[in-house]
Amino acid sequence: MIAATPPAPIATPAALSPGPAPAGYRVRLRFDPRVRSLEGTVAIRTRGARGPVWVRLRANRGGAPGVAACASARTRVAAIAGSTLVAARRGCGVVRVAPPPGAATLTLRVGVAIPAANDSFGRSLGVDLVGDVLPVMVAAGAGGPRLGPDPEWGEGLLAPVVPWDVSVGVPRGLTVVLPGVPRVRDGPGGRVFRSRARVRDAAIAVGALRARSVRVGRVDVRVVAAPGAAGVLPAASARAVRAFRFMQRRYGRYPLPRLTVVVGNLPWGGSEYPGVVFSTPDTATVSHEVAHQWFFSLVGNDQYRDPWLDESLTSFHEQLLVPGTYDCPRARPPAGLLTRGMGYWGAHPGAYERVVYRDGACAFVALQRTAGAAPLRRALAAYVAARAGGIAGARDLYAALVTAVPGPVVDAWWARYVGDPPHAAVPPAVVAHRA
Ligand SMILES: [Zn+2]
Repeated sequence: MIAATPPAPIATPAALSPGPAPAGYRVRLRFDPRVRSLEGTVAIRTRGARGPVWVRLRANRGGAPGVAACASARTRVAAIAGSTLVAARRGCGVVRVAPPPGAATLTLRVGVAIPAANDSFGRSLGVDLVGDVLPVMVAAGAGGPRLGPDPEWGEGLLAPVVPWDVSVGVPRGLTVVLPGVPRVRDGPGGRVFRSRARVRDAAIAVGALRARSVRVGRVDVRVVAAPGAAGVLPAASARAVRAFRFMQRRYGRYPLPRLTVVVGNLPWGGSEYPGVVFSTPDTATVSHEVAHQWFFSLVGNDQYRDPWLDESLTSFHEQLLVPGTYDCPRARPPAGLLTRGMGYWGAHPGAYERVVYRDGACAFVALQRTAGAAPLRRALAAYVAARAGGIAGARDLYAALVTAVPGPVVDAWWARYVGDPPHAAVPPAVVAHRA
């Protein structure tokens, strides 16, 4: 057991600034399979807000600007129930909405037309996927609220864990995947799936689904696919369960009662959401997306500013689960590049995957070689324990590493692969957005 002390006091500023933040979501939608649309309402309860707040309408990239209502070809949003749309930016990508006077909840009417593209907002292997689509309130990061556009690829979410209450009505014969374990009841013309879960975001999948469930402790690890792809369920389930057991053994109990893997054939493999992942059935992608449940879903980060924190750590665990996924001996990550944000990668798309996934994973492989597997595992377990349910920044990772790995080893590694070690002379100022 190595008991190392930090070489200098570590500042641990919160990645999420105090200020207006979402306190909960209530989503009521109905799915129409004839036109493949979702219609209904999204109510956002706010905390700490006196007046209008910014809301990100993520499916509205490129939508028509307007103040009375915002619409793109795929998604329409209007403020209702006394709420008012007071401003719009980025072609309705971000809007400012005022709740009714004296109220803390704003309500939007939403209409979502699901595209035909093989996309995480689209249709893959016969399943309708709705990821990164529902409106979310913009929470403030270290630099204040980010009102710029979402990245064209990759993720850009910064969201605290709050209660989401989501219901989707569908005709009989269809199943709805939501975070958590939905309750099913008869509804008008079919059935209503309703789930309540404490998560950062809610992804939805709809289809005539076949499922394979395996209980791992108290968690239902479920893999679903359309009937035409149901043949992959046994193998995909075994891969998901193996990755889930591996991560849970290392980092502790998974907080949700179910993890659902939706099998698709997305060109880039998969996308992660709290409690739900969309994934191709191969071992590496399933392992990667399951590992995201700890790095992003449980330990959150600013995905736009610090994409490496979840992607590099997730890719490292993918490499542990499927050795050889990344060609580490050839990886030469230049220090300072790994920590770039999605603004940089948007302008350098060719290097994003190589640096943030491969080089990032290989950087942790190198640290494991010099520090030892057990100390690194203890350090990462400390990182998860310190920031579970919250938002982590790079300093949190550094602070956790030096709890189990000698400071000089961490500093040398950090300087080579990450940048200047984040020593700071200011005392810790921890704001734990723990939920
Ligand atoms: Zn990933």
